[in-house]
Amino acid sequence: EHFEDLKGKVSALFLRNTLNAGYKNPTPIQMQSIPSIIQKRDILACAPTGSGKTASFVIPILSNLKRHKKQGIRALVVTPTRELADQTYREFEKIGRGRNFKIVNYKKMTELRGVQQKDVDVLISTPLRVLGSAKKRLLDLSTVQILIFDEVDKLFEIGFLEQIDTLIHFCRNKNLQKLMFSATILPVIEELAFSVLKDPIRIVV
Ligand code: AMP
Repeated sequence: EHFEDLKGKVSALFLRNTLNAGYKNPTPIQMQSIPSIIQKRDILACAPTGSGKTASFVIPILSNLKRHKKQGIRALVVTPTRELADQTYREFEKIGRGRNFKIVNYKKMTELRGVQQKDVDVLISTPLRVLGSAKKRLLDLSTVQILIFDEVDKLFEIGFLEQIDTLIHFCRNKNLQKLMFSATILPVIEELAFSVLKDPIRIVV
């Protein structure tokens, strides 16, 4: 399995950045999720930290974004902790280098007002921050095309599971693509996935 096998599916620039990051071969989760995400499928992936799960959604998301359009937030990544938001942000920066996508971390949320929001392509945030701003109407999520819930088992631990529905509602997009990544698929996560994902591809690594 080689990253070169993804040529034609993934933008050449992002493929080059991936190789430059020192990633020689795609990990099993990357092999399975990259083509499915590019095809706009919903995903329920059972993948632990260290499996390469972050790049498995960063690479196809960047590829599907095509270019910076100033039309508002198109991809929203929800992570249980600030640390994970930081790591995810760095992965987007590394793989997205050379294309002027605007990737914004939760830390900059308060600066995102009005027109400036139109500049943002990808937003990475902890759940409470993004929901708090959306509820106060400080954040417009109606432009979101792809929503990613990372480490759903941890989101469950911090009591955020019920609010996932609320967040999807704020996105107001009938064709919203949704991805869920979790180290373990508990029955409660299975139930949630069943109720919110559309014909999901299941990936277990
Ligand atoms: P993650 O599971 O996303 O937390 O990634 C775990 C670590 O693996 C991170 O330090 C990544 O930079 C690294 N990584 C991700 N994909 C690959 C790959 N295909 N080859 C080598 N390392 C990778």
